[in-house]
Amino acid sequence: MSADADSYEWPAFHEASHCCLAEYFSQETKEAWIARREGQHIPAEWRAPSNVADKQRRLNEIIVLMAGRAGVDRLSGRKLEYPDWHESDDYTLALRRAMWLSGDDEQAADLLLQWGARRAELLVERLWHEIHAVAYGLLEHERLTGSHVREIIKQSNNGKVAA
Ligand SMILES: [Zn+2]
Repeated sequence: MSADADSYEWPAFHEASHCCLAEYFSQETKEAWIARREGQHIPAEWRAPSNVADKQRRLNEIIVLMAGRAGVDRLSGRKLEYPDWHESDDYTLALRRAMWLSGDDEQAADLLLQWGARRAELLVERLWHEIHAVAYGLLEHERLTGSHVREIIKQSNNGKVAA
């Protein structure tokens, strides 16, 4: 299947990547939806369980925020240019967390975002079967609840030995 920027496929894989990495880090998804050329992954709550340290939670959130872009890169088989990347919510929210973790030092924050992008790239590769399943769920239904997302992820792992 060819990737077409005007189709629903890119937003589906983008949002599915957010969903699967969020679940990987036990950050519950409330809802995910796609419409032509766009979509949104809505976390159940922005705060992770309180037993997760604030720093670790923000590091995980950076990886989850970087996952959408990593998922579309994986789908298209190359690193794509995103002219409006610095205006995106994903970048803005990730930068806010990176600045908090870096004592407001822009250079350190930028390195953290690079770290998050690499971690997202590797996890997208590892969770690709889940992302694929959730993306096709989104393409079929356009809107998935968090419990539906978790069910699809669970089914995609049936018969698979945990890595
Ligand atoms: Zn996104």
